[in-house]
Amino acid sequence: MTSRWWVCHMRYLLHCSFLALINYLSPNYDQRIDSIPNNNHQTLTSVQSFMTRIIDRNPGENEFHQAVHEVAETIIPFIHNKPQYQKAKILERIAEPERVIIFRVPWMNDQGEVEINRGYRVQMNSAIGPYKGGLRFHPSVNLSTLKFLAFEQIFKNSLTQLPMGGGKGGSDFDPKGRSDREVMFFCQSFMTELFRHISSDNDVPAGDIGVGAREIGFLFGQYKRLKNEFTGVLTGKGASYGGSLIRPEATGYGVVYFVEQMLNQRRDSIKGKRVVISGSGNVAQYTLEKCIELGAKVVTLSDSSGYIYDEKGIDAEKFAYIMHLKNEARGRINAYADKFGCEFIPGKSPWEVPCDIALPNATQNELSVDDARLLIKNGCMCVAEGANMPCTPEAIEVFENNDILYAPGKAANAGGVAVSGLEMSQNSLRLSWSREEVDKKLQEIMFNIHSTCLRYGHKPDGRISYVQGANIGGFVRVADAMLAQGLV
Ligand code: NAP
Repeated sequence: MTSRWWVCHMRYLLHCSFLALINYLSPNYDQRIDSIPNNNHQTLTSVQSFMTRIIDRNPGENEFHQAVHEVAETIIPFIHNKPQYQKAKILERIAEPERVIIFRVPWMNDQGEVEINRGYRVQMNSAIGPYKGGLRFHPSVNLSTLKFLAFEQIFKNSLTQLPMGGGKGGSDFDPKGRSDREVMFFCQSFMTELFRHISSDNDVPAGDIGVGAREIGFLFGQYKRLKNEFTGVLTGKGASYGGSLIRPEATGYGVVYFVEQMLNQRRDSIKGKRVVISGSGNVAQYTLEKCIELGAKVVTLSDSSGYIYDEKGIDAEKFAYIMHLKNEARGRINAYADKFGCEFIPGKSPWEVPCDIALPNATQNELSVDDARLLIKNGCMCVAEGANMPCTPEAIEVFENNDILYAPGKAANAGGVAVSGLEMSQNSLRLSWSREEVDKKLQEIMFNIHSTCLRYGHKPDGRISYVQGANIGGFVRVADAMLAQGLV
């Protein structure tokens, strides 16, 4: 561990103590907390009738209902005595996309056969900035998934304090097992429709599941060709053509910075902790790297075929192998077990492995209530979501009721979109910041998000709910901007 890291770390500890003091002394603080009632009957009824309307208007969209419900449970009590938000129906408007674009994506595979996929872009909310959110290429993609992701993105982007609205898009195309040539043809066809709905000032997509550096390159190339413009219309670009340093690392690093903040709250740190990670894609890879750097012992990774359990811990050399396996060879995670002689457990998630910290970094609803109970039974004290909505609502309830440090994705994985926001700034300025500059800004943003969660997350019983803190902290900025802009 470098001395520079220690200097940064100590500076941020001081910074956080200062912010905690400011929060404590703030005159708004008690007023805001007083305004959040216990889960009384009236609140429950309001949430239920709100959700009935959401479900009626969006039939069959279960993931979307789940995401909205989680937010409504904390926002409806918060706004119960704030008539300005109620009269303007701010929450109802936030839950209705500003625009949804659905389109056909025809392309030709290596056998010369025509294939047809469906493309989407959900432009959810532009109150505080251009629509911003990733593109997901996965066979499970449908409108419900993308609406849940776009909805969550509104709050996440607001928490970063950067000027970014919420959006999400993608396709049911599965890049797995496809040649580079097929992926390129698909990306070109996808962008041939999407390009007319996006621009660097109105909607700036990035990557997500199945969309990494390769796909962003093909998408950017096609946009440039169609528009004859070199602009920052996508983030996550390669460093040689306008990408920001640290963007690939940002989501994973940000998760670990957030975990460190949560542990610091309890006068603890990640050093020496035993960590279980799911997934082995972009977020999992850089979460792993930062955990190794900060002295934690990571013992698992997974993909949709199962998980590897490396009792000795994954070190820097093994990390380099994973990067090659997943990003170049595009292989399966069981190859790691063959190479390093450890266990591969097919068809299962890693939550049965005892740990101090669990980091679900693969996909939505991958951690059930039974997994949550097992994690707690085995000594887990902290769970932070690198993925979006990986824990089921019942699992979250178990974590919060057992005083586990639990960070929702909106807060914990906001580092990726934050550095995307910084990439947009660099593109507009036509210059690039150094790794150190971007990493410092990322750390500051994650610390500020953590402070926002503390500020708004106090429960009547004195405990902190990061769910409540992230939802309310994200909501206020968007809601105030919507009020200021009138009925649009
Ligand atoms: P990625 O690079 O495509 O990796 C996804 C990983 O999750 C892969 O290991 C994949 O395994 C696994 N996975 C996907 N679907 C699965 C399923 N149904 N069951 C089990 N494993 C599954 O994607 P990523 O960018 O790391 O994204 C992971 C999560 O982080 C997503 O929830 C995403 O929305 C969220 N996120 C990403 C970013 C970002 O900057 N990339 C930012 C914020 C949040 P297979 O290869 O076997 O499918």
